Amino acid sequence: MTAHHVPDLRRHIRVVPDFPKPGIQFYDISTLLAHAGAWRTAVAAMAREVEPFVPDTLVAIESRGFIFAAPIAVELGLGMVMVRKRGKLPGNVHSFSYELEYGNDVVEVSADLIVPGQKVVIVDDLMATGGTCKASVDLLEQVGVETLGCVFLMELAGLGGAERMGVPCRSILQLPA
Ligand code: AMP
Repeated sequence: MTAHHVPDLRRHIRVVPDFPKPGIQFYDISTLLAHAGAWRTAVAAMAREVEPFVPDTLVAIESRGFIFAAPIAVELGLGMVMVRKRGKLPGNVHSFSYELEYGNDVVEVSADLIVPGQKVVIVDDLMATGGTCKASVDLLEQVGVETLGCVFLMELAGLGGAERMGVPCRSILQLPA
């Protein structure tokens, strides 16, 4: 799944047990962001995974995806488009409703930023079930935008996220769920 192995980055991710609820191992990027060298290495490693896809633009998923996509876009000379939760984007939006464990949620993208036929790479911090990212792939497909691949800093093993996505997924760190 991943071409580059960056073992040193793992120790910069703080693991918080039972957050935000019992039984969840929360992988906290705050400690990585606070460390200049690790942060730089993480962005460079993700940019190396994005580059071969040769996207027209990046798509960043709210909210931690924004943090990673922004410097990757600058490094690769690309623009970035935000996919946000319902009600956050002004003006006309395209929406896509998707199922959660209980109930449903909606992701949106600004209609005037969508260019049908465009090819994109989606960036986020972590893929768990892949539900959020898959909703973004589906939203984009619905409006004629092709997702070439998805790039994450972290991927939780064994949750079937990559299989669910239906497009190539790359992650820098593979971690236990
Ligand atoms: P999913 O839709 O299940 O792939 O969840 C992905 C989103 O939830 C990502 O954008 C992550 O920021 C967040 N997330 C899910 N599980 C974790 C976890 N164990 N630690 C940190 N963030 C998580």
